[in-house]
Amino acid sequence: MRIIEQQAITEAVKTMAIEAAHHLEPDILEALLAARDRETSPLAKNVLELLLVNADIASREMIPACQDTGVCTVFITLGQDVSIRGDLERAVQEGIRAGYDEGFLRKSVCDPVTRKNTGTNVPGVVHVEVEPGDKMRIAFLPKGCGSENMSALQMLPPSAGSPGAIDYVVKRVIEAGPNPCPPLVVGVGIGGTFEKAAFMAKKSLLRSVGQPAQREDVAQIEAEILDRVNKGGRGVHGLGGCNTAMAVHVETFPTHIASLPVAVNIQCHSHRHKQVVL
Ligand code: SF4
Repeated sequence: MRIIEQQAITEAVKTMAIEAAHHLEPDILEALLAARDRETSPLAKNVLELLLVNADIASREMIPACQDTGVCTVFITLGQDVSIRGDLERAVQEGIRAGYDEGFLRKSVCDPVTRKNTGTNVPGVVHVEVEPGDKMRIAFLPKGCGSENMSALQMLPPSAGSPGAIDYVVKRVIEAGPNPCPPLVVGVGIGGTFEKAAFMAKKSLLRSVGQPAQREDVAQIEAEILDRVNKGGRGVHGLGGCNTAMAVHVETFPTHIASLPVAVNIQCHSHRHKQVVL
């Protein structure tokens, strides 16, 4: 049994909170570069160039890449041979609190009824999955609500099939227009149950941007959604062109014979994410 101290988890989460806000990962920077290079609209091309300049300044001068530093979702994959000395939930929440405090990041979390700000950006949402081994993987995904608010879920009839699921996602992304700050990464969960579909849609955003699904038929669904969304003409910040989305990630899970849950989690161009292994 391998022991991981509560404080080590807190430190890891704190560091990811600060780094995620300032340093975009290579996968999203490369996706923005590729979008700029293929863009056909001069106006959209110019905006993509500005997004890259913004990311560069954020990283060099330690200014958050976006003022909305988000609500935090933390995905933990816990090796079953790991023993945590302390309290896992408290370790994560304390990491978020310290990261947003010491990093001078905007605190956006409030009570949903009173709307009173907690003042600390906690609590974040923590998901824990167990796998074999003695490692602990922590993925940190802060997300602004311009994009989170455009996410949606529909329980489709099974007769809708994959064409119906694709139509639903495409419609949702195009209807979102400029609200989620395109160009986007579109996370999709197809199958499972109500909550499993939503979980898969968000977790799929952790995949390296543009990396296709392993299943060929699922990768084809991704390609079709991406093609149709980009032909929809919304474009970068709703200004037209061919880059409404940079990537579509679809995750699937077996579902009930009478059901077809489809969830779409829309992520903006400021796709902040970090991962660490303890
Ligand atoms: S959607 Fe993204 S880029 Fe737009 S304001 Fe929110 S966090 Fe910032």
